[in-house]
Amino acid sequence: MQIELKDLSVEVNDKEILKNFNLKINKGEIHAIMGPNGVGKSTLSKVIMGYPDYNILNGDILVDNNSILNLPINMRSKLGIFLVYQNPISIEGVNESELIKASVDQNRLEKLSLYDFILELEDKASDLEMDKKMLHRSFNLGFSGGEKKKNEILWALMLKPKFIILDELDSGLDVDSLKIVTEALNKYLKENKETSVLIITHYTRILDYIKPDFVHKMQDGKIALSGTFKLAKLIEKYGYNQSFDIKGETDFE
Ligand code: ADP
Ligand code: MG
Repeated sequence: MQIELKDLSVEVNDKEILKNFNLKINKGEIHAIMGPNGVGKSTLSKVIMGYPDYNILNGDILVDNNSILNLPINMRSKLGIFLVYQNPISIEGVNESELIKASVDQNRLEKLSLYDFILELEDKASDLEMDKKMLHRSFNLGFSGGEKKKNEILWALMLKPKFIILDELDSGLDVDSLKIVTEALNKYLKENKETSVLIITHYTRILDYIKPDFVHKMQDGKIALSGTFKLAKLIEKYGYNQSFDIKGETDFE
């Protein structure tokens, strides 16, 4: 899926968070946005997903050249956009597998029997090294931070998204779990080459596991600098506040 953010300005609670934000992600590309806490990364992800709290002042969001600004969250999800939240919520009394089945029925074109659904769900859960019992409990209830993240990825993989936004996937995941989760994602991306990814992070660690084609540094509500993986390494070395000359640095190639 191709996603284009065009001159996007967004305010929340009368405060402008995104200011003429521009970014184009082509089919099959992996982009990373890096930025310090509070710069507006989660705001960006929720605006793409269609959360109503955000007031779009200007600009557009295009999916395969069509504006999605008027589409509610569930329609954006149906188009193939999936946001893995920074802080996943839990829902008491809503059974995990029933919730995922309902959303699979909404989103996927081919109809799955309950039997085939459970087989596929268990297969993916086992890739993620999740306990099968979790599939039949209330959604995310009492799960650890890492288990919630695995659960989100499980849900994502079941929906077969065409554009995945990972908002600080590594927060709450230990190194082993991060490895398991990113291996499952990489496998999916290998099998679905047209799926695009936006990785939102303030640490470079996740980028060692899912290699981005492009890296962007976010500052003052927009992208201040774009580059390749090398930019992530420079940000790691110098931090967000120090300015640096990308061209002058060659030791990270
Ligand atoms: P990041 O994810 O980069 O840490 P956020 O997008 O979460 O940043 O937040 C950016 C700014 O917007 C912060 O100043 C935050 O307080 C503010 N903000 C985000 N969402 C809301 C909201 N729902 N209500 C009030 N302020 C918000
Ligand atoms: Mg955030």
